[in-house]
Amino acid sequence: MTALPRSVEASKGKHEGPMASVMILCPDTRREVYTGIETDEASFAKLPDVIARMHCPLCGNEHAWTKHKAWLAEPALARKRVA
Ligand SMILES: [Zn+2]
Repeated sequence: MTALPRSVEASKGKHEGPMASVMILCPDTRREVYTGIETDEASFAKLPDVIARMHCPLCGNEHAWTKHKAWLAEPALARKRVA
C-alpha cells in the first residue's frame, strides 16, 4: 500500500464514517452515475489511484475511471434504496 502515513493516522480517530456512494461522470450522457461502490470518506481518501471499470447503466458502455475522477455523493443527499 502506498497510502500516506498521515491519512492512515487520521482514519484511526474516525471509527466508521457514514457510507457514501462513489459517483463518476458518464462521458456519453454527461450525467453522474453511481459506480456501485459505497465507502466512507476516510476509506475513499486511502484508495489508491488505480483504474477501475464499471458497466454504465445510463449508456450501456463500460467506463474506466480513477479515484481522481470520482467523488463521493453526500450521504444525506443519496437516496437510500431499500431492497
Ligand atoms: Zn455511460
